[in-house]
Amino acid sequence: MNAVTVIGLGPMGQAMAGAYLDKGYEVTVWNRTAARADELVARGARRAGSVEAALTANTLVVLSLIDYDAADAVLAQAPPAALAGRTFVNLTSDTPDRARRAAAWLAERGAVQITGGVQVPPPGIGTPGAMTYYSGPKDVIEAHRAALEVLTGIDHLGEDPGLAALYYQIGIDMFWTALTGYLHGQAVAEANGISAAEFLPRAVKTMDVRYFLEFYAPRITAGHHEGDVERVSMGVASMEHVLRTTQAAKVDDSLPSAVLELFRRGVAAGHGGQSLTSLIGVLKRR
Ligand code: NDP
Repeated sequence: MNAVTVIGLGPMGQAMAGAYLDKGYEVTVWNRTAARADELVARGARRAGSVEAALTANTLVVLSLIDYDAADAVLAQAPPAALAGRTFVNLTSDTPDRARRAAAWLAERGAVQITGGVQVPPPGIGTPGAMTYYSGPKDVIEAHRAALEVLTGIDHLGEDPGLAALYYQIGIDMFWTALTGYLHGQAVAEANGISAAEFLPRAVKTMDVRYFLEFYAPRITAGHHEGDVERVSMGVASMEHVLRTTQAAKVDDSLPSAVLELFRRGVAAGHGGQSLTSLIGVLKRR
């Protein structure tokens, strides 16, 4: 019978353990707050009484913890013999460096880590189109392909255990800053009596930046920052208007101020007549 251990039962770990139960896996679970396992146990999961018992129940172990400090704290509860021979699918998010150190620590103890960065929220687990960045040994990933695909599809980036964490953090960098832009814009909207529901269709259009990404990426790759479509100097004028509109609405202006400051640094560095993509060079010099 297919069997897996899931350690960490926040919303993500619960969704994962649930997906395995749905597929008929024998699922062993452990969580620091034991009561979080109750629903899964009612659905047929086995509750391990200790981290050691959770590890020794299966050779395949999914970790879904808040960060690698938590993962370290959990694994430190088990004797080294409980780690040896196991494959850890570490879907905990943290920095590339922490992922590499954890993989090395496990390797010293005879275990293998596959690092993962999940690209969907918990309700997306087990649904078509869901994807996870993975890095680590290809043969180990292939050996566990069926079990990994119970959760999501696989985007294997390479052997370096830090790669999945790196891609994940780059994506999260883009996601949080874009979402914060939405929240800031909505704060200005609300200060002017425009509800989120009212602005929604406009927000959806504005936030659909796919066209820009596909337009800019080849130019960035080619090092082509010509200001034939837009210029950093225009960006400065534009962000000054945003800043004044924000201030008139008495909304916190730290976000547009930071963007304006970056655009101004671009102009000061001689990029005023170039495309906004030239700001990548300014950002890299920080
Ligand atoms: P939660 O923060 O809700 O769950 C975290 C888990 O970590 C809980 O089981 C918690 O245990 C455990 N934990 C925290 N600190 C410790 C500690 N010191 N010792 C032992 N256990 C600890 O996170 P999620 O379930 O939402 O996410 C899990 C991982 O998945 C995270 O790394 C997150 O970044 C990533 N992720 C989450 C997504 C989401 O939408 N939720 C999307 C993509 C990735 P306890 O129950 O006892 O508090």
